Amino acid sequence: MHTQMRENSRRGIPFLSFESFDQTGLTVNAFSTREGGVSSGYCASLNFRGTMDDDPENIAENYRRMADALSVSISQMVLTQQTHTTNLLRVGREEMGYGLTKPLPWTDIDGLVTNEPGVMLVAFFADCVPLYFLDPVHKAIALSHSGWRGSVCRMGEVTIKRMQKEFGSRPEDLLAGIGPCICGKCYEVDEFVAERIRESFSEEEMKAFLLPGRPEHYQLDLPRMNRLIMKQAGIPDDHISDSGHCTCCESDRFFSHRASNGKRGNLCAFLMLN
Ligand SMILES: [Zn+2]
Repeated sequence: MHTQMRENSRRGIPFLSFESFDQTGLTVNAFSTREGGVSSGYCASLNFRGTMDDDPENIAENYRRMADALSVSISQMVLTQQTHTTNLLRVGREEMGYGLTKPLPWTDIDGLVTNEPGVMLVAFFADCVPLYFLDPVHKAIALSHSGWRGSVCRMGEVTIKRMQKEFGSRPEDLLAGIGPCICGKCYEVDEFVAERIRESFSEEEMKAFLLPGRPEHYQLDLPRMNRLIMKQAGIPDDHISDSGHCTCCESDRFFSHRASNGKRGNLCAFLMLN
């Protein structure tokens, strides 16, 4: 496995971070694992979102531990409310704490953008693709959630266009990261999904990420699909880092929807401008 993410451990909490982002000194970026938290059962142990089978107090403690490891406060974090849309929200200091210290006032938000330092963007994952963006020129960031539905609607490109509109970002300046998600070998999809992809991508494009599998099934490589989308939107290939980690192959380390048949907790991606 080739990875472009560094292994970190602070205050007993292991997490991954993109080396390319770390090298700029402009951001704090992280992706959580299952380890280091207080949740139990199938949410063991670092679960970040409420399910019927986890105690809200456990989840609150997990956030406090992660915030501590990243040397921030939970009142700096801003949460998404993901429903497989391509809706993005620009946030700033006024939105800090929404979803943690204040009730979340929005729904159907699958990505966040900001150019304000100290605002930590947070999004949830358990197989879908985390997309991290940094504009080192205009000092702006974005974090988005791209499952198969988001990928069909080119969430990566939608996010880049929003950064262009809000901050004047140029795609050729951007650094991007594809976080831990389900790999092409693990992700079998059916004809319904393949048909949705066919409606938005050419046969030539699809060859790069959708391979024939069992009869009437396909193997969908979401990291490759998202890399293609970001390259077509203008990000140079060597500006795109890949975690190389599969949440399903490594389900002992990450929460995986596919590996657990839905009985799983939530991982988080974190991104903040210094
Ligand atoms: Zn895998």
